[in-house]
Amino acid sequence: MSYGAQDCLLVIDVQNDFMPGGALAVPRGDEVVPVINRLAQAFAHVVVTQDWHPAGHASFAASHAGAQPFQTIALPYGEQVLWPVHCVQDTPGAALHAGLRAPHARLVIRKGHHRDVDSYSAFMEADRATRTGLAGYLREHGVRRVFCAGLATDYCVAWSALDARAAGFEAAVIEDACRAIDLDGSLARAWQELAAAGVQRVQSADVLAAAPAR
Ligand SMILES: [Zn+2]
Repeated sequence: MSYGAQDCLLVIDVQNDFMPGGALAVPRGDEVVPVINRLAQAFAHVVVTQDWHPAGHASFAASHAGAQPFQTIALPYGEQVLWPVHCVQDTPGAALHAGLRAPHARLVIRKGHHRDVDSYSAFMEADRATRTGLAGYLREHGVRRVFCAGLATDYCVAWSALDARAAGFEAAVIEDACRAIDLDGSLARAWQELAAAGVQRVQSADVLAAAPAR
């Protein structure tokens, strides 16, 4: 029993810096790992993302004089939340969690690699113009439905799911395979936007129980 070629499990930013004790810790972020490991076994097609910033990235508070983490500033492409320095390319914090088990993952999308543009979404950078190439990749492989899991629910997971819908895919967020940052009501807002966009809100047990015959 397994999800086949039309379905993709998109594992978002399960990286050390987003784990408890990491530079930008998501509360209980480590709890997603065993859930995602179970899900990954049910999907023939798994894609993984990594937040992957150059030093001095525009999303870091430390890159802006006088700025503090978690404040919002205006950048040329719009509002940007400033974060602690995190997921710097090729550092231990940017590495995937050592307990993540998805050996058959085919593609790792690294996002946020342009110094002056952030990218919460796995599909589209924060300037809302620069594509990562993921939509084209999924279409070439016949994927029609994207199941999103990982960190954080209200930022990279939500933006990725919304962009999956915008790109014409069916999309679902697996709630218990995600954890949120929840900054100033961002989690409730994200669920509202996801529902409005037609993104399904599902639980891992239901996804596993509904696994179609291959
Ligand atoms: Zn980032």
